[in-house]
Amino acid sequence: MTKQFVSFVKDLYQTNEFIPLHAPTFAGNEQQYVAETINSTFVSSVGKFVDDFENHIEIYTGTAKAVATVNGTAALHAALYMAGVKANDIVITQALTFVATCNALHHMGAQPAFVDVSPISLGLCPKALELFLDEYAVLTETGPVHKATKQRIKAVIPMHTFGHPVELHELIAVCAKWQVSLIEDAAESLGSFYKGQHTGTFGDYGAISFNGNKVITTGGGGIVLCKTLDAGKRTKHVTTTAKVPHPYEFYHDEAGFNYRMPNLNAALGCAQMESLGAFIDNKRKLALMYADFFSSSAYKFVTEPDYAKSNYWLNAIICPDHQSREALLKNSNANGVMTRPIWKLMHRLPMFKNAFRGDLSYSEFIERHLVNIPSSPVKSLG
Ligand SMILES: *Cc1c(COP(=O)(O)O)cnc(C)c1O
Repeated sequence: MTKQFVSFVKDLYQTNEFIPLHAPTFAGNEQQYVAETINSTFVSSVGKFVDDFENHIEIYTGTAKAVATVNGTAALHAALYMAGVKANDIVITQALTFVATCNALHHMGAQPAFVDVSPISLGLCPKALELFLDEYAVLTETGPVHKATKQRIKAVIPMHTFGHPVELHELIAVCAKWQVSLIEDAAESLGSFYKGQHTGTFGDYGAISFNGNKVITTGGGGIVLCKTLDAGKRTKHVTTTAKVPHPYEFYHDEAGFNYRMPNLNAALGCAQMESLGAFIDNKRKLALMYADFFSSSAYKFVTEPDYAKSNYWLNAIICPDHQSREALLKNSNANGVMTRPIWKLMHRLPMFKNAFRGDLSYSEFIERHLVNIPSSPVKSLG
């Protein structure tokens, strides 16, 4: 199997050089826009590209207001701050995620509670969320608290794994019933839609990442999607040191963050946004080719849920057993095709090992069987 897979990928990318999981593509106005910022001297946190980039994202996602930040983790941190998460609160999320989701809530002084992911989306499972709340939470006048510790349960953060949208309507229903805020970790899902609406725009806040390995990149960067203009204005304010506008006085009305995206990075982002549609078309074609390749094998290619249109950010396969997974990892990496196991589950990391958690059987199954495979746009696919 590994042999056929390696030659299939090499044929696709038409190269004998090492094939990474996800490399950025700069084929448009990137050089020109970045040079413009340098020539204008406005390379830092004031400049027209930051506003333009936020506008691009607002139009593309349909969010009320987008606030660009230095990275996706900062966007999540700002979103949690805005949603009113406080020290000692519990925030429910998936154990199957990239560590940034948990770091952001940890830096608010909150504690994670892990629930299982769904086989439909590989993201937070609405049924598992409901079971966890039924078992451990009690609804008080001021919202749900943990039955035993009395800690406030403030928010739920589903993550759209590899770009595949979670079951949003079901999650929204559970969050509404239990009066908890929904914040979407949409770091991986720029260009992914749930029943026609862009991911990250369903919750009170959504956070997208533009790290170098994501669908588009700003070098490093992120953005907070805000549901209302008012929330957007406040988010902008707290991510800009909470400085009250004045021609020369320095007055800050709360302890803010210095999280604004520099103009230099936003210039790159504006050029990348012009190519986003082409990247996604290309990646969706690539996914079809992988689906076809694996269809006659024991390896299950991960496809978008039927309610969604996914950006197919990172392609993945579920191996028939743990040994075949280890063999695939070893042989493909040794032969110039990068593959990676999925992240270690969050409760295995030292800082989250004592976290609250429900049953995580499906997350554990995925942890042992899933492999990510090369997913950059392919030149020959246009
Ligand atoms: C990439 C990513 C982030 C964080 O993004 P950075 O820009 O690297 O800080 C957060 N959550 C998930 C699930 C991610 O994949």
